Amino acid sequence: MPKKLFIRTFGCQMNEYDSDKMADVLNASEGIVKTDNPEEADIILFNTCSVREKAQEKVFHDLGRVRHLKKLNPDLVIGVGGCVASQEGDAIVARAPYVDIVFGPQTLHRLPQLIAERKAKGKAAVDVSFPEIEKFDALPPAEVKGASAFVSIMEGCSKFCTFCIVPYTRGGEVSRPFEDVLTEVAGLAANGVGEVTLLGQNVNAYQGAMAGSEEMADLALLIEYIAEVPGIERIRYTTSHPREMSQRLIDTYLKVPKLVSHLHLPVQSGSDRILAAMKRGYIAIEYKSIVRKLRAARPDISLSSDFIIGFPGETDEDFEKTMKLIDDVAFDASFSFIYSPRPGTPAVEMEDSTPASVKSARLSRLQKRIDELAQAVSQSMVGSVQRVLVEGGDEDGVGHGVGPDLADHIEARLAGHLHVQERQRHLVLSQQFECTGSRACCQHG
Ligand code: SF4
Repeated sequence: MPKKLFIRTFGCQMNEYDSDKMADVLNASEGIVKTDNPEEADIILFNTCSVREKAQEKVFHDLGRVRHLKKLNPDLVIGVGGCVASQEGDAIVARAPYVDIVFGPQTLHRLPQLIAERKAKGKAAVDVSFPEIEKFDALPPAEVKGASAFVSIMEGCSKFCTFCIVPYTRGGEVSRPFEDVLTEVAGLAANGVGEVTLLGQNVNAYQGAMAGSEEMADLALLIEYIAEVPGIERIRYTTSHPREMSQRLIDTYLKVPKLVSHLHLPVQSGSDRILAAMKRGYIAIEYKSIVRKLRAARPDISLSSDFIIGFPGETDEDFEKTMKLIDDVAFDASFSFIYSPRPGTPAVEMEDSTPASVKSARLSRLQKRIDELAQAVSQSMVGSVQRVLVEGGDEDGVGHGVGPDLADHIEARLAGHLHVQERQRHLVLSQQFECTGSRACCQHG
């Protein structure tokens, strides 16, 4: 019977991706399979995130909840990975001595060795180093699970925004070689993947070495080449930094129709004063200029963003500037949070006298406004024709799991639209399934 692995993942898409890689690494080396039940697991891993407040406390709380399982299975291996592991290192074992392994985002490929080391030496194995590109080389090919796949093309961040812990936990920006990414994408496409999402902490800072050339490939070039891979129908990338939104990348929206009409471009604030305090490296008008150029290249592009509300020193006037930016840009989705201090970041030292109630009221107002804008976009789509990716089907051949070419979040709107024309949707998607199996791109409407 194969050994079983339970993974609990916190945080962003990068962590989701890393968790899949942990499972791939353990499956390739020891045939370990995943389980949803920690009680039957031989290995329990927590892939942690340190972006939210009290993340460390939450990790120890979760560890405490599985500790008793070691009594039932003395061979059980408990591990902590991700950003909290990277930040805390040995301190995790000092506080929770029953933890067997601690590893960072850049050492997850060494999991089999760390488990072996733990068993051989009888004490916890800790490796939170940054061996840079080695990780990409050591990972086994991803298991293809559907029509869409994530492809990590770069890691880390060298921007050092004053509120963010990522550059300290994931290290500086490191890009995968150009040909390695293309080879992985071609392999995925050969196995039925039609949509790839290129992943990186600062994905548009990609600078991949090209074989036989002194020049580096940027994200624009990579997208152009990926669009030529047979079978690839749609290309996404996330997460982008406004500072890295080059004209070449903007022009790609003109040149490459397979690049989806959605961009997540975190702005964080509409106040230049707060943007400077965050050390974001742009001002509001520069951000708006990027949006104007993007819309010139791709008029229907859907834009989403991240906002931090109540950053230390944010006044009513600063907040109103953020609200104005939202109206000017007409975002139709956002991830918005009240600022939460991260130990070890410069912003922790900044004076923050805004009452929590004021911050909450600001956040509610912002979210309400973005919801209104999203509703308006939804309405404007009713009756339109959208290209969708069919991700699966029922036994009767009726498709489900559709995602449009635009933003993920438009799926709900599109579902509403489909409800209106349900009969027609079923007809069209059924036909597509019969034609092309579990993956299809089709028109409906
Ligand atoms: Fe963090 Fe800023 Fe880097 Fe994004 S760009 S990962 S917010 S430091």
